[in-house]
Amino acid sequence: MKRLMLKIFLFKEYLSKHMQCYFCQRNINEINFKEIEILKRFLSPSAKIRPRKKTGLCSFHQRKIAKAIKRAQNLGFLPFTR
Ligand SMILES: [Zn+2]
Repeated sequence: MKRLMLKIFLFKEYLSKHMQCYFCQRNINEINFKEIEILKRFLSPSAKIRPRKKTGLCSFHQRKIAKAIKRAQNLGFLPFTR
């Protein structure tokens, strides 16, 4: 059991080092709600916001993307469900 935990821990560390946030890689700090093509990447097939585990975003950008998606949904750029 301990060995398995260690393996998981090491794997998580590996991911965090080798997987970088999409926006940090491109030095984007402002996410506009009108950029629907970018926002669509972070939606699941049923038009829900993907969790951080799947998007691989940092907390800062995950919060920004969630806000932008909600704003876009309220203005009718993105669907609430599919
Ligand atoms: Zn980031």
